[in-house]
Amino acid sequence: MSDCLFCKIATKQIPSSFLFEDDDVCAFRDIAPQAPVHILVIPKRHFSTVNEVTDFAIIGKMASVLKDLAHKEGIDQRGYRLVMNCNPEGGQSVYHIHMHLLGGTQLGGGMTGL
Ligand code: AMP
Repeated sequence: MSDCLFCKIATKQIPSSFLFEDDDVCAFRDIAPQAPVHILVIPKRHFSTVNEVTDFAIIGKMASVLKDLAHKEGIDQRGYRLVMNCNPEGGQSVYHIHMHLLGGTQLGGGMTGL
């Protein structure tokens, strides 16, 4: 997707500092952090929303990468949140799927608060 922001990050057309990268995914810090630790992981393959995903192995891979990064950031034992937003009512603003890792502080209760 030539006009997709996260495709441009994944293909390094837009410079970014990756915390993790392999053939399938890359992870980088959110540009507008909502918590002391706010990291995004994205697949290199473009899916606009979770609704377009057919092979959910990629979602497991994304969660696994963020679990490891939570450990590296030193927040795995204190706790953290993994979030995927889908479509407008889910709060999605970038239409290339991504999973958020949020932590480093006491997060609010409930399912909202991003
Ligand atoms: P969502 O609202 O779930 O679609 O989340 C999109 C996230 O992407 C937001 O938290 C944004 O702050 C973040 N974001 C947007 N542009 C960039 C960028 N260039 N680099 C890093 N994060 C970004």
